Parts: sequence; structure tokens; C-alpha cells
Amino acid sequence: MALAMKQDFPALAQMVNGHAVAYLDSAASAQKPQYVIDAMNRVMTEHYSNVHRGVYTFGAKTTVAFESARKKIAQFLNAATEKEIVFTRNATEAINLVAASFGQSLKAGDEIILTELEHHANIVPWYFLKEQTGVVLKVVPIRADRSLDMAAFKKLLGPKTKLVAVTQMSNALGTVVPVAEIAAKAHAVGAKVLVDGSQAVVHLDVDVQKIGCDFYVFTGHKLYGPSGIGVLYGRYEVLNGMPPYQGGGEMIEQVSFDKITFKEPPYRFEAGTPAIVEAIGLGAAIDYMNGLDKKAVHAHERALLQEAEKRLAAIPGVTIFSTAPERAAILSFAIDKVHPHDVATVFDQLGIAVRAGHHCAQPLMKVLGVAATIRASFAVYNTLADVERLAEGVHKVKKLFS
Ligand SMILES: *Cc1c(COP(=O)(O)O)cnc(C)c1O
Repeated sequence: MALAMKQDFPALAQMVNGHAVAYLDSAASAQKPQYVIDAMNRVMTEHYSNVHRGVYTFGAKTTVAFESARKKIAQFLNAATEKEIVFTRNATEAINLVAASFGQSLKAGDEIILTELEHHANIVPWYFLKEQTGVVLKVVPIRADRSLDMAAFKKLLGPKTKLVAVTQMSNALGTVVPVAEIAAKAHAVGAKVLVDGSQAVVHLDVDVQKIGCDFYVFTGHKLYGPSGIGVLYGRYEVLNGMPPYQGGGEMIEQVSFDKITFKEPPYRFEAGTPAIVEAIGLGAAIDYMNGLDKKAVHAHERALLQEAEKRLAAIPGVTIFSTAPERAAILSFAIDKVHPHDVATVFDQLGIAVRAGHHCAQPLMKVLGVAATIRASFAVYNTLADVERLAEGVHKVKKLFS
């Protein structure tokens, strides 16, 4: 298999607490390949400048690199044009942008449909909008197997539905959601669709035109790129109908104290100096991903997940929460009588990095009936040895707390 090896990621060559690091927290943030680090260093050491301004050589070179990152992202998502790609700080800001801007077209009584699987980033901005405008939030439940209840979704849809905002893949459970079907059903009642792809872009094939969504958001740092950069994809005619989000330089055409005219998308939504180096770094991360055999990567991640499930399910006292028929790269679990935070602390002593907590999904934790879970998440650089370490770690925790 033409797979990315651990050695592409310099941080993973280290020892942690006397052990080779088994990094199983990529769903929170992924490690960076040398390729991305080099691309970012090159901008700063060879031709750094602001973008869209200087006529001098550095300015032209940096602007070309910045705009070519936008093109790479458009291709990566199969957007119709790079004008549909807005740079944001992260997925959170992308959703806040849609809530603040598209949200202005909504009025009291209009309905927004969310799901129990959502990350707080796809809940709180809509709660703000509800407080401001009186829109009504409806929530699609999950089923006992932790897949989305599509029958319940269809029942919630109606003439008042103006937006469906849904994750394509749960960051807490790994559940994969049939977003194309959701988009088709939502459009049939005239609603717009926002898909949170923060996890999905890393582990699934994403094609925004096939999905048919109006908005798609993701965040750079989970896709092997830097932090501080995220993406809002918006279908051009939808973006073009939306008012600006923030005001400032870069987003205007003409400014006087009486009248201001704005640029077309995407620039209308990019006030101020953007995260230049980070955007170029995200473009490099996409180049890196494109250089891999995508099918092999997905098969590798599936194999790691299956092996981890098999190993953990065989250990008495382990409860696995990631049980939906369609799921990817994430294994959420608990060990009887041991607090998830204690598990993560013991794991750290063994050089194993996992996440313990509510995973920014408190409503989902409530549905699961727990305050927290332990989450192991898998990425392109993980190996079967990491899975082995995870299973051994669980055995050690059980001994320690028995
Ligand atoms: C991580 C994540 C977010 C938020 O990403 P930020 O980089 O913190 O903005 C939103 N949704 C999902 C599903 C995530 O996994």
C-alpha cells in the first residue's frame, strides 16, 4: 500500500514518558507532515508579504500561493469554482459566519433542524440566532444503534424548515450521516443545507456537488494542516445573496463615510489580512493528501478501526459507544468503574494519547447517558502497533483499578 508512513510526521518520532508515542487523538487535532511544515517555512523565509496588495515581487508570489491554495481546496471539495471557497479561522468561525449572515434572512418561527450528533460549534451559533430572532431549533434524535434517525428527520421537515445544519461524521462517535439524502429531502421543502465536514474531509471522499449542500465547512488543523485556518464552501448564488459578516479592509469595493459597496464572494466575507501562511499550509496539506492513494488510506483507517473494535470488545468491562452501521476512524468507549480522565492519565504514562471528555458534544453525552467517554481516533499515520498499545493500555488500566 502506498501509505503515508509515520516518518512523514516528525512529532511522532519522539518518545513520550519513555515510550514511542501512540497518537490516537487526531479527531481533536492531527499531526503535521514535514511537507506542510516546509511549505509554511518557505513562505516566511523566501517571499513573505501581505496578499492582494503589493505590486512588488514578494507580494505577487505570496498572493499567487495564497490563491492557489484556494483553488486546491475548491478541487478537493469538487466545488464548481474557487469563488465558492471562503477562508475562515476554523470550522467554528465558518458556521458563525453562516449564522450571522445567512441568518439575517430568517425570522421568528422559521425552523432550523440540527441533530443530536452535533459538535457545539454547530449548536451554539444557532442558539445565538434563536435568541436574536426567534427562530425555532428542532433536533433529530439518534437511534439505539447511534445512527441518525432518518424517519424522525423526515417528520421534522416541513414548510417552515429554512435550514438543516448537520454533521457528516460525528466527532464523538464516528457515526457517518447520509448527507446527500438529507440535502435532497431538505431542498424538496425549500430549505438550505449546511454540512459540518470537520471530520468527514479527513476520512471520506467528499464532493459538495454530489452531496448537493449549500454550505460545507471544515477546519485545517484536523486535515494535517495548521491551526488558524478553516473553510466555508458556499454555493455561489447562495453566497452572493448574503450580506457581509465582518467589516474592514479587503472586503470592500468603494468606501466613503456615506456609502460602502462590497466585493463579490469570497472576498466580501474575508475582512482584514487573512491567515496567509496557514492558508498556504492548508493547500500543502491537500497536496500531501492528494499524493497518497486515497483508497488505500481509507482501507488502512478502516482496518485500524475494525481491529481496535475487535480487541476492545473482547475485554470484559469495556463498553463501546461507536456502534452505528456506518462509521469511521473513531472509537468511543468506557471502562467499568474507571473515570475516563483517569484512563487518559494512565495512558499518558504509557505514551498513548487519547481524549477523555464530552468531546464538545454535551447533548450527545446526555443521550448516551454518560458525562464523558474515552475516544481513540485513527489517522493516516497510525499503525496496528498503536492499536496493540491501546488494547494493552486498557488491560493495564483494568489491573490498576481492580
Ligand atoms: C473539530 C470539530 C469542529 C470545530 O472545529 P474548530 O477547528 O474547533 O472550529 C466542528 N465540528 C466537528 C464535527 C469537529 O470535529
